Amino acid sequence: MYDYVIVGAGSAGCVLAARLSEDADVKVCLLEAGPADTHPLIHMPIGILWMMRSKVLNWNFHTRSEPELNGRELFWPRGRTLGGSSSSNAMCYMRGHPNDYDEWEKLGNPGWSFRDVLPYFKRSQNQERGPSALHGVGGPLNVADQRHPNLLSKTFIQAGIQAGLPFNDDFNGVEQEGVGLFQLTQKNGRRCSTAAGFLKLARQRPNLTIVTGAHARRVVFEGKRAVGVEYIKAGKTEQVSAAAEVLLTAGAIQSPQLLMLSGVGERAALEAARIPVHTELAGVGKNLQDHLDVIVVDTCRKAVSWGITVKTTLMGAWNLLRYALGGTGMFTSNGAEGCGFAKSAPEEAIPDLQFHFSPARLSRHSLDLGFMVGDGYSLHVCNLRPRSRGEIRLNGSDPYDKPDIRANYLSDPDDMERMVRGVRLARKVMAAPAFDPYRGITLLPKGPCSTDAEVREFVRQRAETIYHPVGTCKMGSDPLAVVDAQLRVHGLQGLRVADASIMPLLVGGNTNAPVIMIAEKASDMIKAARRASQQAGAAQTQRQSAQRPQVAQPVA
Ligand SMILES: Cc1cc2nc3c(=O)[nH]c(=O)nc-3n(C[C@H](O)[C@H](O)[C@H](O)COP(=O)(O)OP(=O)(O)OC[C@H]3O[C@@H](n4cnc5c(N)ncnc54)[C@H](O)[C@@H]3O)c2cc1C
Repeated sequence: MYDYVIVGAGSAGCVLAARLSEDADVKVCLLEAGPADTHPLIHMPIGILWMMRSKVLNWNFHTRSEPELNGRELFWPRGRTLGGSSSSNAMCYMRGHPNDYDEWEKLGNPGWSFRDVLPYFKRSQNQERGPSALHGVGGPLNVADQRHPNLLSKTFIQAGIQAGLPFNDDFNGVEQEGVGLFQLTQKNGRRCSTAAGFLKLARQRPNLTIVTGAHARRVVFEGKRAVGVEYIKAGKTEQVSAAAEVLLTAGAIQSPQLLMLSGVGERAALEAARIPVHTELAGVGKNLQDHLDVIVVDTCRKAVSWGITVKTTLMGAWNLLRYALGGTGMFTSNGAEGCGFAKSAPEEAIPDLQFHFSPARLSRHSLDLGFMVGDGYSLHVCNLRPRSRGEIRLNGSDPYDKPDIRANYLSDPDDMERMVRGVRLARKVMAAPAFDPYRGITLLPKGPCSTDAEVREFVRQRAETIYHPVGTCKMGSDPLAVVDAQLRVHGLQGLRVADASIMPLLVGGNTNAPVIMIAEKASDMIKAARRASQQAGAAQTQRQSAQRPQVAQPVA
């Protein structure tokens, strides 16, 4: 019997397991469907190219046919190992805009304003540049400057400035707008996933049990209280009990899936999948939001990029040696080195577009290797606060069925208009004089693509996810809310969700650091609840002993 059972050892799950097991009296069990993170390519930053293709360490989801994207089914990779998606992401360290968290609070979530969450961002962080009002040191998540940025990424910064954007040395600082280089969740040139950062020490603790290869199939309830989790390991069904709480951290796709498999969700959806209804909760799986992204790509006339070329191939062994010996060189690249935040129109109060710059030709998540052959460079642009909403549904009652993902990208016309403005701004940056010595021909978009109708069609044909699905078990108190501001599932006891799915609104930036913050904050809430219940227990014992009849003392 454990005190806490955590489902999913991803960005959030590893943080929760590490924080809760700090108390030696507390027994924690962490279940992860994927294997341990022993493969060396997980830890080598450039290994992200391989992680995209892995059939074992990646869930390889796809959306349904997307109506506004010419019916395409979009590839949604997610990490499936210790560290979850933090073991396969691009390592960009980004928090989003302070206003994003103030909005969460305004939606009825006390304690989630930027002022409230900043201490948790800082607590998790070891900022190699040193401490400041906005950055922390000494935390398990190492945040580092890039060790070997490509010349083209520095050129991108010059081009961005020429296109009218300010230089920005710290996107998590006072101002988000501008162009610069990403800081990365890396340590000594190696990936700092939450498994590497948070679990590293915690793994040794006798009060933490980590079970890999454990695919959770449902939460076990006694009445309205969650008391354990049923999971499948090596073909056998097992059960693990939680005396205090079950904590779901299976991510924005699988936390709602697991709730539905457990009979918690919208009645019609559960009945359609032939799952007995335990608790009706209409919002489970709803409110799905993601950053849709499109890439403009030019070839490069000089052999300086990190595409698949004779030069980079010949340099492969040398770069491997540099990486192995000193954690330096091209293999420390996260692929997306340059960053930019911009306003798509002057009246925008804060940036609504983000750029990711790659010093290589990229298309379709790098799955199209042929496209990467040759020198080139790519600029991604995404709309940071989409109004479109999608949903996650079940495809059936089998826990191994991949969920039915309907992102509904661009279902709100405003999202398309921002994408059009974003593509225009990205092309302006690519056309800036700084790139003149390098620019070859434009690979994407093909043709002139000058009218709004042509840009819209380019977006419909080429846009992809930039991997930030959130919001499917949203926090709040409205009819579609799944958890309250303490992350407790409405209508149930002993059950919380604490991952990307609880975001009521998608933040304006990459989502790994925000998820880590959510788990840090959740760990404090859970510890506080434990203390409160222990104090209540102690007070009750005192009351009971005070009420017991006094034993008569013998008279001397
Ligand atoms: C390719 C890619 C690139 C990205 N790049 C960046 C970036 O550069 N910067 C950034 O900030 N963000 C990035 N992100 C997004 C960021 O990594 C995610 O938002 C974040 O990791 C989500 O954390 P999570 O804990 O919600 O889910 P995850 O980290 O995905 O964790 C969920 C875990 O639960 C496990 N699980 C699922 N179902 C079950 C089950 N039934 N039983 C047991 N275990 C289960 C999974 O295997 C996984 O380990 C990227 C994501 C991807 C996929």
